[in-house]
Amino acid sequence: EPLSGTAIGDAEIAFEGALRPGTLSEFVGQQKVRGQLELLLRAAALQDRTPDHILLAGPPGLGKTTLAMIVAQESERPLRMSSGPAIQHAGDLAALLSSLVPGEVLFIDEIHRMARSAEEMLYLAMEDFRIDIMVGKGAGATSVPLELSPFTLVGATTRAGLLPNPLRDRFGFTAHLEFYADNELEQVLARASGLLDLDIDRSALAEIAGRCRGTPRIANRLLRRVRDYALVHGTRADLPAVSAALELYDVDPLGLDRLDRAVMDILLRRFGGGPVGLNTLAVSVGEEAETIESVVEPFLVRIGLIMRTPRGRMATEEAYTHFGIPHPHAQSR
Ligand code: ADP
Repeated sequence: EPLSGTAIGDAEIAFEGALRPGTLSEFVGQQKVRGQLELLLRAAALQDRTPDHILLAGPPGLGKTTLAMIVAQESERPLRMSSGPAIQHAGDLAALLSSLVPGEVLFIDEIHRMARSAEEMLYLAMEDFRIDIMVGKGAGATSVPLELSPFTLVGATTRAGLLPNPLRDRFGFTAHLEFYADNELEQVLARASGLLDLDIDRSALAEIAGRCRGTPRIANRLLRRVRDYALVHGTRADLPAVSAALELYDVDPLGLDRLDRAVMDILLRRFGGGPVGLNTLAVSVGEEAETIESVVEPFLVRIGLIMRTPRGRMATEEAYTHFGIPHPHAQSR
């Protein structure tokens, strides 16, 4: 039971770790991606070589880190974890790459945030397992080649489009993770309740599944809040407990969170439903455009509240209905 830590962050991380599936067969949903990975890993095993480099793309919480761990686990290779923001100079990457053991799986989360100079070093490393290290400065500078151990790079990004083409092209394949269907989320939740030894009603699981933004990480978090609620109130983890807990934490019936609602509110009320440009929208809610585009928007598009048009983002009629605002052009549609 990893919940005894005093720091919420640590408990939250330990909790995630405890619920992480360890094998491809335990990994729920993403059938297409699982099949692709399985083939790639099997072929590499048959030829006794390192699996091709893999790029995992999709919004946060859909299982990219988990899949990277599974790749290492299933191919029986050690795993090294790093992230784009931790690689701010080519030297950081050189140190990392040159310390890998043969066959190691290198996971770089948020790979689109790596320094430019490191990106260029990575091209050669991925292709030839070699890097060029610059020695000296100015006219006397020379580059010294350094052989690397073969490795498999698993990169994760919230959107493949954020990566420069030459980097994207060097991955053997790109897995696009999709939001999960409700029945898949129910499976994630059923598995998590089992691991947490939580006795929870089927209807309660279904309700959480429908209100977690199609995202396993959020599903597991909401499950934890429901467990807290049932514990504190001495009730069963049933449908009323779910409704009360989710209301307490401001999760709306569609599962929209505070930022989702802020974006919709600005779009509907300040910009009359749009079209409005991404940057304007981002500035208005005080978030980075990248966050709006790769975290908030994909889900709002998927549930049909926002449309992306060449002129900008527009609210759909469903959005007006959901937020109870009269549609300005109701007549003309
Ligand atoms: P990402 O790296 O894409 O942000 P993670 O791999 O960290 O997402 O997943 C977040 C949490 O969600 C994990 O702790 C894991 O328990 C759960 N999870 C994600 N995908 C699945 C899945 N397909 N099946 C079961 N649990 C999952």
